[in-house]
Amino acid sequence: MYDILIIGAGISGTFLARDLARYELKIALLDKEDDIACGATMANSAIVHSGHDPKPGTLKERFNVRGNEMYEDICRELGVAFSRCSALVAATSAEEQATLDVLQQQAIDRNVPVTRLNREEIVAKEPHISDIVIDALELPSTGIITPWEVAIALTEEAVLNGTDLYLKHWVTGIEKTVIDGQDAFLVHAQTPAGLTTLTTRRIINAAGVYADDIYAMVSEAQRDAATRRFSITPRKGEYYVVDHETKPLVERIIYPVPSEKGKGVLVVPTIHNNLLIGPNSDFNDDKEDVSVTPEALAYVRREIAKTVKDIPFHKVIRNFSGLRPTGDTHDFVIEEAADVPGFILVAAIESPGLTSAPAISEYVIQEILAPQMDLVPKAEIQRRKPFIALKHMSPEQYNEMISQDPNFGRMICRCEQITEGEVLDAIHRPAGARSLKGIKKRCRPGMGHCQGGFCEPLVTEILCRELGVTPEELLHIYPGDEERACGISSPNHV
Ligand SMILES: Cc1cc2nc3c(=O)[nH]c(=O)nc-3n(C[C@H](O)[C@H](O)[C@H](O)COP(=O)(O)OP(=O)(O)OC[C@H]3O[C@@H](n4cnc5c(N)ncnc54)[C@H](O)[C@@H]3O)c2cc1C
Repeated sequence: MYDILIIGAGISGTFLARDLARYELKIALLDKEDDIACGATMANSAIVHSGHDPKPGTLKERFNVRGNEMYEDICRELGVAFSRCSALVAATSAEEQATLDVLQQQAIDRNVPVTRLNREEIVAKEPHISDIVIDALELPSTGIITPWEVAIALTEEAVLNGTDLYLKHWVTGIEKTVIDGQDAFLVHAQTPAGLTTLTTRRIINAAGVYADDIYAMVSEAQRDAATRRFSITPRKGEYYVVDHETKPLVERIIYPVPSEKGKGVLVVPTIHNNLLIGPNSDFNDDKEDVSVTPEALAYVRREIAKTVKDIPFHKVIRNFSGLRPTGDTHDFVIEEAADVPGFILVAAIESPGLTSAPAISEYVIQEILAPQMDLVPKAEIQRRKPFIALKHMSPEQYNEMISQDPNFGRMICRCEQITEGEVLDAIHRPAGARSLKGIKKRCRPGMGHCQGGFCEPLVTEILCRELGVTPEELLHIYPGDEERACGISSPNHV
């Protein structure tokens, strides 16, 4: 019997798992996919927003501002990269300048650092700004992370501190029950080996685009369109990824002035020196559809030309899309369900959900769980070791690694300079990789300009050898379900 079972190993669920694992609790973290961070957390703009633009009085405002304050220290503790690269919001007309005035005042009211730049100052900082930009806000507290690296690191720490991780567990039903005279839940999940059931006192529903359906499993009110608390419609965003350069085109994130559709089409310099260009914002009926379309990509290209010029589209190595879990509440839903005690909703977590995740976790633990259960801190907390990254080591350190383990001398990915030793580490770490995509997310083979053309067969061979599976078993999540094969058949992700 678990004290708390978390559904969804995205950034929301993994922050909660890691933070809850610091207490004397029995925690389970479940995801339907074969790895951590396969939903919105894998496919987004990777920005730790400053908190200047959520509507006043919303949960988005509260948790965005607090999340931004928390991220840098947490990333340092976890040993993952965080860069406070700053951002410009670029205006191209008098009407947009009026919106900048409002955003500037909001930033000041929230103690978010902000400065106003004229065209000359903008061009001095970002020479590739488009010729029609006339005015900008600079938001120096804006940062970037690699979202899946953070979620994986959080999970590793959760697992090291006793959390049970259940991947390939697709929750298909939840029943309320009573065990030893106390309320509990039976959580039914489909796995490759068949149906399984876990028991728990409390559930945290952090299931992204499926959070409304998961809630409907336990709530009659939620099943009825007339009385439901919220519904989620996926809102797709599509991107270009430009190959990494020693010095990317822009140093800061360049936002356009936001509209009713959201933050608009941006340029983001990533932690690994790629450029992300996107996203569009289109509602979508299908919660699994992460395809990219020529129409959306053409829109992204047209829109970005308004704020940034000289984008090297000939160096694009990939396109991908992500689905925002957009709620009809127009705000996050973070509460204990009114009709189901012990069932906690962390739902409708669209942007700025990545930024807000540490603050949401802090709120759920301190404001929702602490008043109703005994949270006893563990005497000792285990810390994870950072991912090994030989390309950032000196030649002396590199040679030392090879002399200790010759696997660090066998190059697997030429584009990203990744060795067999690093792939083996990615497999054998806590919550280690079980798929090609899992390896790619932990140590980056396949992220370079050949997109896995050279390394994918080698990584497949290593994974099969280490896990004792056939290539078919490696690729198929559920028996007979070739379409959902991970890695190779999902070209639009990561
Ligand atoms: C295009 C785009 C751009 C964005 N840009 C930013 C940004 O720059 N900054 C920012 O702060 N935010 C951004 N966001 C928002 C941010 O990505 C999300 O708010 C955040 O990732 C949501 O995390 P989550 O853990 O709540 O959901 P998810 O990451 O979607 O995780 C939910 C998990 O639940 C699992 N799951 C679902 N159903 C079941 C089931 N039945 N059984 C078991 N498991 C299940 C899924 O597999 C998934 O892993 C963006 C989002 C998108 C899509």
